[in-house]
Amino acid sequence: LGPVGVLALQGDFREHLAVFEGLGVDAVSVRRPEDLDRVSGLVIPGGESSVMDKLSRLFGLAEPLKNAVASGLPVYGTCAGLIMLSDSVLDAIDGQQTIGGFDVVVRRNAFGSQLDSFETDLDIPVLGDTPVHAVFIRAPVVESVGDGVTVLSALDDGRIVAVEQGNLLGTSFHPEITGETRFHEYFVEKIRARA
Ligand code: GLN
Repeated sequence: LGPVGVLALQGDFREHLAVFEGLGVDAVSVRRPEDLDRVSGLVIPGGESSVMDKLSRLFGLAEPLKNAVASGLPVYGTCAGLIMLSDSVLDAIDGQQTIGGFDVVVRRNAFGSQLDSFETDLDIPVLGDTPVHAVFIRAPVVESVGDGVTVLSALDDGRIVAVEQGNLLGTSFHPEITGETRFHEYFVEKIRARA
């Protein structure tokens, strides 16, 4: 099994690399198209999706990333990474594009003016009985999902914040900054199941 890649154009890729390191899972930065060829899965980190989009096009990664998603590579997006994986984005920055693949509509900065960032505990049944402590930072929410999408978690008010569809996994929040490892372990299981 090849290493897990972490898209390292922008954002909190170091935190994801550190989680994998803590789990004893080989992980590498992905910055060039050829880096994608040797990874068994890919994490797209949090950051700013419009900047990540620009950089991915500048570095010739946009098409290779789309091809990787289409070929079934397991990909996990956190926050901006989830936006990058979404087929449709509300409140996108002018001209912003995505890799897509996830049959969802997300809204950027969905908690915007009310609240920039907050923390809460979420029930995520696929990860076990202990709640997941989730940090939301200028986070998106998933406003609607297509038929093939499984909702893994929602806030008490029903807003969807964790989703899965085939090879894709996405969270509005950042497990990589709280010491939470179960999402990364769940993702590694997805990679192993495919291999
Ligand atoms: N607001 C950012 C965006 O639109 C996402 C923030 C984050 O990744 N923490 O891309």
